[in-house]
Amino acid sequence: MLRADGTPFPGLYAAGEVAGFGGGGVHGYRSLEGTFLGGCLFSGRQAGRAAALAVS
Ligand SMILES: Cc1cc2nc3c(=O)[nH]c(=O)nc-3n(C[C@H](O)[C@H](O)[C@H](O)COP(=O)(O)OP(=O)(O)OC[C@H]3O[C@@H](n4cnc5c(N)ncnc54)[C@H](O)[C@@H]3O)c2cc1C
Repeated sequence: MLRADGTPFPGLYAAGEVAGFGGGGVHGYRSLEGTFLGGCLFSGRQAGRAAALAVS
């Protein structure tokens, strides 16, 4: 997660729609229906990897 100024919020992770990829995010405002699963998987993978790295 990022603070309002764009800097990382330590120890706070987001995956799925709450990560902000919808509504003009990764796929843009003209994204096709049915393309959110990819963003859910991608953001979950990134958040999980970052959390694992933080505790290793
Ligand atoms: C009608 C419809 C059709 C769709 N069709 C497609 C499709 O064909 N292909 C595609 O890729 N995407 C589709 N999507 C989008 C896709 O379903 C979502 O992007 C995806 O489900 C988001 O997953 P998520 O885990 O981020 O959020 P969600 O699936 O919304 O999960 C969030 C969870 O958090 C829980 N929650 C909320 N507040 C709290 C709280 N305070 N405490 C504990 N739990 C809480 C909720 O109950 C929910 O279970 C569709 C969406 C809709 C509405």
